Amino acid sequence: MLHMHGNSPKSLRQDLLANRKRFAASESYQAAQEAIVTSLSQFLTAYDAQIQSVALYCPIQDELDLRPALLAWAASKTGKTLALPFARLDKHLDFYSWQEGDLLIPSRQGVPEPDPNNPRRPQVIPDCILIPCVGWSISSVGNKKHYWRLGYGGGYFDRTLAQLRANKPNLICVGIGFDWQKLDDDQWQSQSHDESLDLIITESGLLR
Ligand code: ADP
Ligand code: MG
Repeated sequence: MLHMHGNSPKSLRQDLLANRKRFAASESYQAAQEAIVTSLSQFLTAYDAQIQSVALYCPIQDELDLRPALLAWAASKTGKTLALPFARLDKHLDFYSWQEGDLLIPSRQGVPEPDPNNPRRPQVIPDCILIPCVGWSISSVGNKKHYWRLGYGGGYFDRTLAQLRANKPNLICVGIGFDWQKLDDDQWQSQSHDESLDLIITESGLLR
């Protein structure tokens, strides 16, 4: 499904985003969405003791909408909270508590974000962060697999995860992607500033 992209990450991202737009309009999309939501729910059940707070994202550009599933998760048990990212000027993300119906404010990039000055919605350090992928890859060191994310090119999650993991090594970072977004070494290789993902959920299930 990937076309020629002339090797630059910029054109690779453009191709992947165009493919995602086509995929979102295709007949396969709904089944993929349902499979991902099912795997996400199974993952949250399996990690119930470790995960009290989940950071999600407000979907833009054909990203999967996980909000209904996560609102149901938060409503199903006491003590579970949700958070959304707020992009700082220094390209770090802060996460703020989010509840259904909260007013969101479009960022300069057009992403609906929580109001960081709302005293009723404190900043939170989530136990788990769900991160939409533009592409992803697997590398192996010995028999250990590492998962990597190609994002939109801003490096926001790389900066944020590097900082959060220094204080919270058990943070669980989950990439949300599709099977066809998988990139081979000759298409893209992660760089030293890239932060790995702990697992990836696609329509095929949980990769870990
Ligand atoms: P994305 O992860 O969104 O696909 P990149 O990994 O290409 O984007 O990162 C975009 C830019 O952000 C790069 O120029 C990279 O150097 C910068 N960057 C990423 N992480 C950090 C960091 N921890 N500190 C400083 N700059 C960073
Ligand atoms: Mg990166």
